Amino acid sequence: MTETILRIRNLRTYFFTRRGTVKAVDGIDFDLLKSKCLCLVGESGCGKTVTALSILGLIDSPPGRIVGGEIYYNNLNLLECPPDQLRRIRGKEIAMVFQDAQSALNPVFTIGNQIVEQVKLHLGATTREAKEKALSLLEEVGIPTPEKVANYYPHQLSGGMRQRAMIAMSLSCDPQILIADEPTTAVDVTVKAQILDIFNQLKNTRQMSLLFITHDLGIVSEIGDRILVMYGGRVAEAATVSGLLNNPKHPYTASLIRCLPDITQVKDRLETIPGTVPSLIDPPGGCLFHPRCDKALAICREETPPPFIVAEGHTVFCHLYSHLER
Ligand code: SF4
Repeated sequence: MTETILRIRNLRTYFFTRRGTVKAVDGIDFDLLKSKCLCLVGESGCGKTVTALSILGLIDSPPGRIVGGEIYYNNLNLLECPPDQLRRIRGKEIAMVFQDAQSALNPVFTIGNQIVEQVKLHLGATTREAKEKALSLLEEVGIPTPEKVANYYPHQLSGGMRQRAMIAMSLSCDPQILIADEPTTAVDVTVKAQILDIFNQLKNTRQMSLLFITHDLGIVSEIGDRILVMYGGRVAEAATVSGLLNNPKHPYTASLIRCLPDITQVKDRLETIPGTVPSLIDPPGGCLFHPRCDKALAICREETPPPFIVAEGHTVFCHLYSHLER
């Protein structure tokens, strides 16, 4: 049986603003298994990035706060860790690749310098050892001339090369878990495929666990083992990639799949999901998706749907399945 490396239970992260309380993440559960990739999928503002920042202890407080739940890394509850211990875990054991490498990298230091400093800080390596490691990491992420690129500043690299450099930097301390937040959003389709290849290689050669955040359901089959679909800070559906793409059960997931572009068919316009994402300050009662759902029942306006098991490893939070086991 595959080991669970990260276990999230009933995680709730709220932001306390003048306009009211924003329930950005409101009671989510999931397990990330060793050497596997879990994709968090959903529209902007559904809580994907806040989930990642909560795991890393990077929620700005105020206004944000984790108000409840558990985040277990192996057997350690990160929410009970002293700040020093959490700082050591962050970067060294759990690292993050951000969407915008341009702003995540420091513009005044060369790429090589930034990796060397990380390795020295977290691994206590000598400058020489750290330089060797920096070159081998740049090579591992497919940078063809690592010695040359190590001397470049971030602005001297193309978007794709910057994203690779950012991945190399996140690997500098050999983390167990890599969280990638929309790492392919700002790159073209060819670079996107290359970046996905790098993540797949890391999963296979380093036995690394990946938490891959994306709004693009179209790429999860190329990288993911499991998918968690989020809506309004809650989980809508969780399943294996093939189970979810071939047999979506939640009306929201089905709508997301219908909206995927199909290059084999000429259409006048792409499908969209009618309506807008719910306000998280003043959310609708019951199922958050009910104002947009064409299958809504009376109960959907009143009661939050609990999880129902539709198949092994496939759970859906929808009243349409209330006849099934919980
Ligand atoms: Fe639609 Fe009701 Fe299911 Fe929500 S619980 S997705 S409103 S059918």
